[in-house]
Amino acid sequence: MNFVNFFKNLNQSALKGVTDPIVRARINILFYMMSLTLVFGLILTIVYIIYGPPLQLIRIVVVMGTMIYGFRKLILFNDYRPSAHIVLIIINMLVWSNIFLIANAISIVTVQYILLSSTISFFFLNGRWGIFYSLLSLFPVFIYFSLNGINDSAAFISGQQASEPIFIAVMMFNFFQLIFINYHFITGFYLALSQLEEARKDEKELNEQLREAISMAENSSKAKSDFLSTMSHELRTPLNSVIGMSYVLLADNPREDQAGNLKVLHFSAESLLALINDILDFNKLDYGKIEMEKVGFYPAELLGRIHSGLKYQADEKGLSFSLNLDDKLKEIAVIGDPTRLLQILFNLVGNAIKFTSKGEIGLSVQLIDSDNEYVTLAFTVMDTGIGISAEQKKIIFEPFTQASSNITRKFGGSGLGLAITKQLLEIHGSHIELKSEVGEGTTFKFEIRYKCAGSAEITVNSLLEANVLASEDITWLNVLVAEDNAMNILLMKKLLASWNVKAEFAPNGLEAYEMAKEKFYDIILMDIHMPVMDGYESTKKIIAFYADKPEAPYLIALTASVANDIYNKIKLAGLNDYVSKPFNPTELKSKLINFSRLKSKQD
Ligand code: ADP
Repeated sequence: MNFVNFFKNLNQSALKGVTDPIVRARINILFYMMSLTLVFGLILTIVYIIYGPPLQLIRIVVVMGTMIYGFRKLILFNDYRPSAHIVLIIINMLVWSNIFLIANAISIVTVQYILLSSTISFFFLNGRWGIFYSLLSLFPVFIYFSLNGINDSAAFISGQQASEPIFIAVMMFNFFQLIFINYHFITGFYLALSQLEEARKDEKELNEQLREAISMAENSSKAKSDFLSTMSHELRTPLNSVIGMSYVLLADNPREDQAGNLKVLHFSAESLLALINDILDFNKLDYGKIEMEKVGFYPAELLGRIHSGLKYQADEKGLSFSLNLDDKLKEIAVIGDPTRLLQILFNLVGNAIKFTSKGEIGLSVQLIDSDNEYVTLAFTVMDTGIGISAEQKKIIFEPFTQASSNITRKFGGSGLGLAITKQLLEIHGSHIELKSEVGEGTTFKFEIRYKCAGSAEITVNSLLEANVLASEDITWLNVLVAEDNAMNILLMKKLLASWNVKAEFAPNGLEAYEMAKEKFYDIILMDIHMPVMDGYESTKKIIAFYADKPEAPYLIALTASVANDIYNKIKLAGLNDYVSKPFNPTELKSKLINFSRLKSKQD
């Protein structure tokens, strides 16, 4: 019993830490083969000691010695390869000595050894070693036949190296070894296959779980995005009235004390709107829904506008604000999204002004590369403000983060500006670089590659025209407003009246259509969501009515919708332009001015 345990322990130690079923099968085969050979060899040694012949005795002693060495290696090192080589060397030694020393013939036992040599080398080692050991054991056969001729086939049966019982025992032992090797190897092979199958099943299950997790994450991200869109939309509608009314009241010659309060009200509402727009923008960017416009524009002109637009803010703080434009840039027009570039630069310059209390702000643009088709512009925004520490640099591009909590208290802001800027630049295939020293100032740099535009491709971007054309006369315009919301009607009335623009009102799409049939309006401001007939339907009918007339009204959609495809929908319906609610009164005014200017050019 103790011996069995000892044997089992030896086997366990040879298998220690091995999990691969094929490797386990290999170690097991070698372990049992070698231990049985050792027992069998011991018996043969005793027989040869007693009965001879001496040559057999010498051979069995060499075999036993080598085998013990290989067995020890197998148990101690968990690596079957050296032991497999040792066994193969022993087998080949048996083949060679059988043929040339002991039997001088090719007996069935020799053939078995050749089979063993080939099987073990292929099963245990690799293809190359398999071929090597197979040829090594076949080579003496070839030599033997070359020397003795093929006719000496009797050699097959007659070559008996030992006495009959020993010969039979060795022959049977070898047959069993062959069966044993095949059995173990095939079992290991199937086990490995079934493990593979299980692993595949596990993998499938894991993939399924992963897919579920991804879809859950996507759903929750979509829910978040939808929630933000809806909330922002709901907030924008009442804000529309607040901004519009404060604007109207401010334009209505308020008393000085009232004007102060109204300015605060107006400023707060505009900040709130800016925040909502930021959240909406960020949400769209985060959800990959933002689409870049591709229109022709002059970067130099756009930069000039940013400079004049923000200069008064810098002046108010006593900061000098310089614009440094590459001379070569003056004539260059490019194709891109001017509104997004404006947004990026407004963010950066706005921050520069916000975080600087003395010194200067600089905006510079250099043309760093150009060929016939493309130009690369390098933009730099620098300030001499509070600066950003190394720690803060790591976080400020994250959404809703500011360099420190007292920034909000001191300067306000949502912490979204840089996150949006970074993402907008990524969409432009660019990235932002930041250099800053605390107390010294900050420099933001980025490059954008634009396609060049011919002058024919330049379209008037109405958004950029705000304020600039304030002196344009729009009092001649005849406007129809299709709007159902009482607050908005009141607001529109006051706004248009403050610009001395004549306006009439229709409470729904159908009435707007009827009125447009009766009388020609230069501009129709068309709310999209209205009872009885919506803005799209009414637009279609009006367009159809004017299809064969020399002139049709200019249709501007009014919409509080923030859906991403709203712009396409509006264009598809045949509307000429749109103003999103809550509209900035100056934006609406600039649309009217643009139209007026376009008209006077045509006339
Ligand atoms: P917000 O300005 O609305 O707080 P931003 O994302 O634009 O959000 O900026 C994040 C933070 O980065 C700011 O709160 C400020 O701490 C820091 N920061 C940005 N620009 C500058 C600058 N020019 N100088 C110093 N700090 C800056």
